[in-house]
Amino acid sequence: MKAVQYRTIGSAPEVVEIDTPEPGPGQVLLKVTAAGLCHSDDFVMSMPAEAYTFGLPLTLGHEGAGTVVALGEGATGVEVGENVIVYGPWGCGMCESCANGFENYCSRAAELGIAPPGLGAPGALAEYMIVDSPRHLVPIGDLDPVTAVPLTDAGLTPYHAIKRSLRKLVPGSVTVVIGAGGLGHVGIQLLRALSATTVVALDVSEDKLELAREVGAHHAFLSDASAEAAIREVTGGKGADLVLDFVAAQATLDLALKVVAVDSDVTIVGVGPGEARFGWLGVPYGTTVRTTYWGGRTELAELVALARTGVLHVATETYTLGETPAAYEKLHAGTIRGRAVVIP
Ligand code: NAD
Ligand code: ZN
Ligand code: ZN
Repeated sequence: MKAVQYRTIGSAPEVVEIDTPEPGPGQVLLKVTAAGLCHSDDFVMSMPAEAYTFGLPLTLGHEGAGTVVALGEGATGVEVGENVIVYGPWGCGMCESCANGFENYCSRAAELGIAPPGLGAPGALAEYMIVDSPRHLVPIGDLDPVTAVPLTDAGLTPYHAIKRSLRKLVPGSVTVVIGAGGLGHVGIQLLRALSATTVVALDVSEDKLELAREVGAHHAFLSDASAEAAIREVTGGKGADLVLDFVAAQATLDLALKVVAVDSDVTIVGVGPGEARFGWLGVPYGTTVRTTYWGGRTELAELVALARTGVLHVATETYTLGETPAAYEKLHAGTIRGRAVVIP
């Protein structure tokens, strides 16, 4: 089968021919119907050899959708022919976090050598993929796999981040979304669907600001020196109740901490080099700064239920497996509108 693999540190991913996998005990084989490209892949492929821990060759793709084609011995709970999306942050299934559905915070995954598809295990950028357990599949029925596959990360990650701050998103509150890309443009829609908060989007590109407005941002400003004053004005001087930073550059984190209100949350979603520089004296009372990682298994099911109501409009650009290296170049350059999705 055809697959897209990262094979050499520092080189572009390659389209290669590899053996079609067979499901082992408990596993599920999917014929991939769609796979999303994430900026985290770009980060992984930019890591120096000393820091790189994902194994080589690595079949990329941690956003996967497919049709069940075979079940390994003892695997039950899904049927051959069923259309599913893959819950990516695989955990042990047994620890306290996993028992609560938050396998993204599994305390034993590293120790047990469990890694997500595309980030250690073979990923979804291939004609077929192995899923380690039916537990990691969410049925999508007749939803289009192309627009459903970004839910697994571009949707799930902001959904989880927003849910953690939901009690603050009352009418009159303001949320700043920094970076209206794959995650950000879904995040804006989730904020609108789940709360009454006023959404302010920031980006460096006019095209992305236009996309942000199209998907529901009340305001969209360039992410430059003028952004602080623009946000202050929207909030009537009070500041923002939540900042979701999908970039996490030093400039965006510094800005986030300058525009927050009392009892606000700054959530670092972007895998960027910036550091939150703050202490008791520098920020309003009660400011919380935290990171977030992917989302929970039940949260993905909730998100699919939300998608079924028709309120989400995920913008996608579609590519073939052969075009994937070029699509990654576009992602690196910041010129993808919404999510790049590969249809094998
Ligand atoms: P993307 O490339 O689709 O979107 C990034 C957006 O940020 C683009 O629209 C770009 O124009 C904009 N941008 C760049 N610099 C900016 C700046 N200084 N100010 C404002 N906007 C700026 O990327 P994506 O796939 O949506 O991923 C976003 C980030 O989230 C990446 O760092 C990725 O690694 C990370 N991520 C984290 C998790 C997690 O679990 N925490 C999960 C998935 C992705
Ligand atoms: Zn990702
Ligand atoms: Zn666990």
